[in-house]
Amino acid sequence: MASVVVCGGSIIGLCTAMMLARDGHEVTVLETDRDGPPGTPAGAWSSWRRSGVAQFHQPHNLFSRFREVSDAELPGLMDRLVAAGGVWVDFLETMPPTLSDRAPRPGDDRIRFVTARRPVTESVVASAAEEQPGLTVRRGVQLAGLLPGRSAIPGVPHVAGVRTASCEEITADLVVDAMGRRTPALDWLAALGARPPQVESDMGGFFYYTRYFTGAHASAPCGPPADTDGQFLHPDPGR
Ligand SMILES: Cc1cc2nc3c(=O)[nH]c(=O)nc-3n(C[C@H](O)[C@H](O)[C@H](O)COP(=O)(O)OP(=O)(O)OC[C@H]3O[C@@H](n4cnc5c(N)ncnc54)[C@H](O)[C@@H]3O)c2cc1C
Repeated sequence: MASVVVCGGSIIGLCTAMMLARDGHEVTVLETDRDGPPGTPAGAWSSWRRSGVAQFHQPHNLFSRFREVSDAELPGLMDRLVAAGGVWVDFLETMPPTLSDRAPRPGDDRIRFVTARRPVTESVVASAAEEQPGLTVRRGVQLAGLLPGRSAIPGVPHVAGVRTASCEEITADLVVDAMGRRTPALDWLAALGARPPQVESDMGGFFYYTRYFTGAHASAPCGPPADTDGQFLHPDPGR
């Protein structure tokens, strides 16, 4: 059994932590945002303050691979998501008319997934994490750096734990970085003498415009997807 610190308590951090705890490890998640999940999905949407995740209220799909992994490693999570209002999505049901061969294929089922608004998904994951034996989630803990250990391989720095902004030092056999795309861990590793990873980035040209609707009935798609220049990918945009 190892002691594991997971830096960042968002979806990836919490799911990783649950899987490691289920494998028998002693896991602590450290998350800078103070508030835990509100008790209801509606509360998660309207009142959960998650300043650590800039895209918290933008649309998120949980794709099939996530469902497959969580069905195998975190059984019951998708059921909880559906109970909280998550919906099944099957892109095969909305194939464009240009695809004439619509015959089912073996494995089509794998494409289906459950999705929900991000605050709802995250509240479901966070509630499941709170119930996981062997897992402690500490919120309101901002991480500020890594603790150096004795190198096992000369020239390769060893991480022995983390340091919080309030100067608490927490040692661990394994430190997992789940602090998202703007993670400070790359700088922290460089400060320990680690080789910086090769990062390639480019402007993708994506813009997000989001509007949510509520109502008694499930929404029907009102238009085709558009590409990054705003061109409709569907030959019949008036559909
Ligand atoms: C507009 C938009 C739409 C997206 N849509 C999708 C989608 O449809 N499907 C999809 O799969 N992905 C989507 N993504 C990507 C998805 O949001 C990210 O991949 C996902 O949030 C990454 O999860 P994470 O847990 O790794 O990091 P994050 O969700 O970024 O969470 C990082 C966590 O670390 C915490 N943290 C940060 N710094 C510290 C610190 N110093 N100390 C302690 N805690 C810290 C933060 O508070 C936060 O809780 C979208 C992204 C954007 C921007």
